[in-house]
Amino acid sequence: MPQQPLAQVPLDSKWHWQELGLCRSTDPLLFFHPQNERGSSRSRRDQSAKRVCASCPVRLECADYAIRAREPYGVWGGLSEDDREAIYRTIDRPAATRLASVPGTGVAAAKELVNEAISEEALGIHRIQRAR
Ligand code: SF4
Repeated sequence: MPQQPLAQVPLDSKWHWQELGLCRSTDPLLFFHPQNERGSSRSRRDQSAKRVCASCPVRLECADYAIRAREPYGVWGGLSEDDREAIYRTIDRPAATRLASVPGTGVAAAKELVNEAISEEALGIHRIQRAR
């Protein structure tokens, strides 16, 4: 997981997934935008972080945690800040409060958006169409 102070930490009993995150051997600055970073610079950095997450063995655990904790900053589990904001708009506040205490429910509540966050398009991968 990115090295950043945690905002609202759900009381999970299992945190072992953090030891397996690929970001532990990656520059943490890739996962958090510097002040005033906007536009294409921010998109490119987010995409680079998402590519790391896309190969991470604990991506879903990480995404689940970030959704339930309502992590305000950074790319977690392939979800950018904007991705998480889109997810929060689909989950009402009372439901979000319930989710916070139950591991697995964050990803379950937003499965499609969690998958879309690391789609080829989201990662900036464009396939070359072969002419037949
Ligand atoms: S999914 Fe991404 S942010 Fe989460 S532990 Fe893996 S590499 Fe780190």
